[in-house]
Amino acid sequence: MTDKSFRLEVRDWLENHCPQSMRSPFDSEADLCWGGRNCEFKSEEQETWLRNMADKGWTAPTWPKEYGGGGLNRTEAKILKEELKRINARPALYSFGISMIGPALLHYGSEELKQQHLPRIVRGEIRWAQGYSEPNAGSDLASLQAKLEDMGDHYQLNGSKTWTSYGDKGDWMFCLVRSDGELPKHGGISLVLFDMATAGVSTRPIRLISGKSPFTETFFDNVRVEKNQVVGELNSGWTVAKYLLTHEREMIGSSGVGQAGEELLGQTASRIMGLESGQLSNTMLRKDIAQLEIDIRALDLTMERARDEAAAGASLGAVSSMFKFYGTEYNMRKQNLLMSINGMHALEWVGAESEEGRLPRLWLRSRGNSIEGGTSEIQLNIVAKRILGLPG
Ligand SMILES: Cc1cc2nc3c(=O)[nH]c(=O)nc-3n(C[C@H](O)[C@H](O)[C@H](O)COP(=O)(O)OP(=O)(O)OC[C@H]3O[C@@H](n4cnc5c(N)ncnc54)[C@H](O)[C@@H]3O)c2cc1C
Repeated sequence: MTDKSFRLEVRDWLENHCPQSMRSPFDSEADLCWGGRNCEFKSEEQETWLRNMADKGWTAPTWPKEYGGGGLNRTEAKILKEELKRINARPALYSFGISMIGPALLHYGSEELKQQHLPRIVRGEIRWAQGYSEPNAGSDLASLQAKLEDMGDHYQLNGSKTWTSYGDKGDWMFCLVRSDGELPKHGGISLVLFDMATAGVSTRPIRLISGKSPFTETFFDNVRVEKNQVVGELNSGWTVAKYLLTHEREMIGSSGVGQAGEELLGQTASRIMGLESGQLSNTMLRKDIAQLEIDIRALDLTMERARDEAAAGASLGAVSSMFKFYGTEYNMRKQNLLMSINGMHALEWVGAESEEGRLPRLWLRSRGNSIEGGTSEIQLNIVAKRILGLPG
C-alpha cells in the first residue's frame, strides 16, 4: 500500500471511528483515560474510542501485531499521528504500560511475559505503576534496598518505594529490587512484575502543596513474586531499568510539545488580553510567546528526526535525556507565560479540585516535570558525559 492510500484509509477510518466528543482538547486532567481494572470512563464515547483504537492496535501503533499492536512501520505511524492531530483527536489511552514497561518487555522480556502482558497493555486493561524511587534512592537510584529473596518456588519482596505516581490506582507494578546484596551496587538489581492486589502490598497517599495526592508511598511486606516475572536476567535489572528510563524520558519530553488540539499560546493571549492594531500590546510578552512557539516547534522536529534515525522501535538512548531536559524546560516556560497572560485570574485558588485553581496547579505541576524520570541536573550530567564526551 502506498503512503497516500494508507493516509486515505486512516482518514476514512478515523472519520467513522473517532466519536465527535473525542475531537477536542481535554478540559481537565480528570478527562484523561488511563484504563485499568477499575477504570471509570467519563463517557460512553471515551470507552468506544479506546475500544476502537485498541481493536486496531493503534494505542501502540508500532508494536508487533502478534502482541496486539498495530504493526505499523515508522512512516505509517507518523501518518497516523498526523491524521489524529488533524482532527484534534484525544489520545485514547494514557499508559505507563505503553510508554515504559511495554518497550522494556519488547526488548528484554521472555516470550511468556510478552504474551501475558503486552496485549492487555494495548487494550488498556491493566494500569501500571512504577516502583523505582526509595527514600534513599532517587537520583542515586542504584542505592535501592527493597529486597528480593529466593524462596525456592517463588521470590519474596520486602521494603518500600516512594513517589509512586497513582500507586493507589495501579493494578500491576514494575519494580526495581535488590536481588543480590553481595554483588557490586549496580550488579545485584532486578526488575520484577507483580499484581498490586497481592497480599502484603499497601500504599499510603503523599499530599502535595497543590492539595492533590497523585503519589503514594508503597510498602512490601513478604510479597510473593512469581519466578517467571523477572524482566531480563536476574541481577541484570540495571540495564533493563536504564532502557526503560530512556523511553520514560522520551515520553516526558514529548509532553513538552503539547497535545493534539491544544490552543497556541498566541491565540490564548489574544483571546484573553485582546489585540491592538492586530497585535498584543505587551511587546515583551509577544516576544516571549513567539520565542517559545519557535523553540517548541524546533524540539518537535528534532525529536521526529531522532526517531527517524533510530531503528524502528529502538530506544533513543542518551538523546532522550536532551529531549527530557528541553521538553520540561519549555513546559515550565509555557506555564509561566500562561500565568502572565491570565494576570490576576491566574491566582484564583478555590480548592484543589476546582476549575478555578487549574492554572496555579498546572504551574506547580510543571516544576515536578523537571524532577520525575530523573532531574534536570541528572539529564545534563548524562548529556555532558554520554553525548558531549566531557570528563565525568
Ligand atoms: C511528578 C513526579 C512523579 C514521580 N513519579 C514517580 C514514580 O511513579 N515512580 C518512582 O519510582 N518515582 C517517581 N518520582 C520520583 C523521581 O524519580 C525522583 O524524585 C527523582 O529521581 C529525584 O530523586 P529525589 O527526589 O530523591 O531527589 P534527590 O536525588 O535527593 O536530588 C535532590 C537534588 O539534588 C540534585 N542532585 C542529585 N544528584 C546530583 C548529581 N549527581 N549532580 C547534580 N545534581 C544532583 C537533584 O538534581 C535535585 O535537585 C516522581 C517524581 C515526581 C516529581
